[in-house]
Amino acid sequence: MATIRVRFAPSPTGHLHVGGARTALFNWLFARQNNGVLVLRIEDTDLARSTKESEEVMLNDLKWLGLHWDEGPDKGGDFGPYRQSERLSIYREYADKLLAEGKAYHCFCTDEELEAHREQRRAEHQTPHYSGKCRQLSDAEKEKLKRAGRTPAIRFKASAEDINIKDLVRGNVTFPQGMIGDFIIMRSQGYPIYNFCVTIDDALMKISHVIRGEEHLSNTLRQIMLYKALGFPLPTFAHLSLILAGDRSKLSKRHGHSSLGQFEDKGYLPEAMINYLALLGWAPTTLSGDVEEMLSVEEITRQFSLEKVNKSPAVFDLDKLNFLSGHYIRRLPPEKTLELARPYLEQAGLVDENTDQAWLTEVVMELRGHLHCFSEITQHTDVFFKNELKPESDAEWEMLKAPGVTDLLSGLKGKLSGLTAISPEEFFALIKELKKEFGVKGKALFMPVRIALSGQQHGPDLGKLVSLVGPANCVKRIESALQNL
Ligand code: GLU
Repeated sequence: MATIRVRFAPSPTGHLHVGGARTALFNWLFARQNNGVLVLRIEDTDLARSTKESEEVMLNDLKWLGLHWDEGPDKGGDFGPYRQSERLSIYREYADKLLAEGKAYHCFCTDEELEAHREQRRAEHQTPHYSGKCRQLSDAEKEKLKRAGRTPAIRFKASAEDINIKDLVRGNVTFPQGMIGDFIIMRSQGYPIYNFCVTIDDALMKISHVIRGEEHLSNTLRQIMLYKALGFPLPTFAHLSLILAGDRSKLSKRHGHSSLGQFEDKGYLPEAMINYLALLGWAPTTLSGDVEEMLSVEEITRQFSLEKVNKSPAVFDLDKLNFLSGHYIRRLPPEKTLELARPYLEQAGLVDENTDQAWLTEVVMELRGHLHCFSEITQHTDVFFKNELKPESDAEWEMLKAPGVTDLLSGLKGKLSGLTAISPEEFFALIKELKKEFGVKGKALFMPVRIALSGQQHGPDLGKLVSLVGPANCVKRIESALQNL
């Protein structure tokens, strides 16, 4: 059987979008599953918008996700170069071939003329296809136009037939004849157009399966016409559905979480991201028919199938990603948790190179339960790093203001004063003493103590908190609470 060859072909004109990342992932999964090859091709023929920085960012984003390619601009391979801007002579050669075979022609129309024609067609309620005017030019007419200073573009003769494909996601897709008119493949400046480059590259790079976003369906029609005209065998197509935001509009920048780099910066885990991206349009099922959610990349690779990808739009649900991501964070070992949390704590000025590693590991492990991504950690650090903790709710203030609380807290302060360290067990022994001395128990005893020491009714285990924060800081916290009463 021929080798399965797929490609991810980003245009380096910005960040890697969530949709692009999903396309890359599905290509990668398909290649891995079939012992195939993933080609990375950079589509940088849009000179005005393509940048080297963007290419670098996109490649780094893919690497962060853990997606690797077998051939590409940085890897080489037998079918390079892998940057379209380095393949211009190849496109010119094929454009000449189409011209020579009468399958394309020089078009001298100016932008203004084309626009006027389109306007007229629209006014007549006709599809604004190109008129075919330059199809018929005689050699003498062409010469005359050239002498008048016009440089021609190269326009492809659209084929007049229905085109059917069997898309692996969408099933049978029919493009009825007449959907498009003759289209440009080389601009008058000699620069090739996207559809032309993609067809030639996919064919020469021996791509067997083109897996890409649904927004490319209308390009697919043009590309199939070109495949046929150039005598290339057709690949199999799979068009992935759109990704929508919660408001059902297409996920975009304005939703604030559309680029992959944003998730990386916020400290999401790549394995959570892979898991979530895989579920955008695809759902694995267990034998019992339950939908599985948390899946390792190996499991995803084992179960993934393009036939099971849903053709209706996928909705990007940040809550679901957060839910999954939180689970991944809670499964990390302590050293890794610290490694990933530390940069955010340093950035917030809470820790530095002198901070005790073992202590900080314990703190981070206490806090990780709150997290969906590591940048969130600084929202929860007060309880370990601040001694002036003001309760937020009225209910908490009321518990502090209850009769006898001042004496109780002063009693606790007395017991903690002068201690240099305290274990959870020693702390609970002190609490037992307080219980006896003050004749209070249960909530009436624990709540004021907890609120004074942590500023909240819920939160870390009290014994653990006290031992990590240390008696001296606990004393300061009690003093601050008493002052506020
Ligand atoms: N360069 C195109 C894009 O970034 C992808 C083209 C394709 O996959 O055929 O949208």
